[in-house]
Amino acid sequence: MRPARALINLQALRHNYQLAQTLCAGKALAVVKADAYGHGAVVCSQALQDISDGFAVSSLEEALELRAAGIKQPIVLLEGFFHADELALIVAYDLWCMVHAEWQLQAVEQAQLSQPIRVWLKIDSGMHRVGFFPHEVYTVWQRLQASHNVASVVLATHFARADEQYSSRTQEQYQVFLEATRGIQAQVSVCNSPALLAWPDICSDWSRPGIILYGSQPVAAERLNGEQFRPVMTLQSKVIAVRELPAGEPVGYGAQFVSDKPMRVGVVALGYADGYPRHAPTGTPVAVDGKRTRLLGRVSMDMLAIDLTDHVTASVGSVVELWGENVSIDEVAELAGTISYELLCHVKRVKYEYLPI
Ligand SMILES: *Cc1c(COP(=O)(O)O)cnc(C)c1O
Repeated sequence: MRPARALINLQALRHNYQLAQTLCAGKALAVVKADAYGHGAVVCSQALQDISDGFAVSSLEEALELRAAGIKQPIVLLEGFFHADELALIVAYDLWCMVHAEWQLQAVEQAQLSQPIRVWLKIDSGMHRVGFFPHEVYTVWQRLQASHNVASVVLATHFARADEQYSSRTQEQYQVFLEATRGIQAQVSVCNSPALLAWPDICSDWSRPGIILYGSQPVAAERLNGEQFRPVMTLQSKVIAVRELPAGEPVGYGAQFVSDKPMRVGVVALGYADGYPRHAPTGTPVAVDGKRTRLLGRVSMDMLAIDLTDHVTASVGSVVELWGENVSIDEVAELAGTISYELLCHVKRVKYEYLPI
């Protein structure tokens, strides 16, 4: 069997969730959208079930998968419904529902529901993706209050630049949010992972940590007091061939790397079809038997090459970590010109192995 694996450390996931909980006095919704950022939404939610305040996903389909797996906690649909006919299932499966646009608001007002639902009112405080404009908020809130289909309302917004520690933009967005919601008595939800790390003064009833649960840190955080988020996924495979090359020999497609001295090159059974970024350049770190070395040349669909010149004991069968404990996914993402979120969501074809709690 092909040795490409994603090892998922559920103990690390639980540790990270509990650490995220300490960053804000309110409750924390574990964001498990997009199959828990590529980690497996059902298994991850089950692993958090006894400690989690609730979960957040991006669609009804994702929520139903969790309910089918026995998840009982609150589940928030971060974009609400995509069609009014989803409302019946939102009631039936007891889901909490973002309302971000006039058409959704009208659908809620006009629906015939057997029970009222809990609505999360999305406010556009400056990201300009989804949500009601600040000047609309009070009227929208009044309409929700007046609707017999609405049980309660949580006020929510999302920050566009919370990972920019030295920009005042997040505080400005927060001020816009506070102004827009002034005089409204309701629970509030504002912080994603970077906001939890970088903006300790901004806190709310419901935080929404995503990426930090999986052990990647979008921004440095002094406030962790030495505690750390632990990588949950280790992406690994094995060396399937080793070749000794003299100086001046090309490696891989396009001869993007040429040996500058006699070299020992390992070929690893993992490529961009497994979700490893093709844009990772020569020099991107990998670890062999726990010791770091580097990627060489272009990543192929099923294979990639690494430098084993200084890894004299490595051979066919040696375990290669592409990211995990020894190689931070944030490092790989930066070198490949992307973010950890995208790398994690793209993992596929590899065999998933869940380390028991
Ligand atoms: C994805 C998402 C989050 C989680 O973001 P992270 O940066 O992964 O913490 C929070 N809130 C909303 C609305 C989201 O879409």
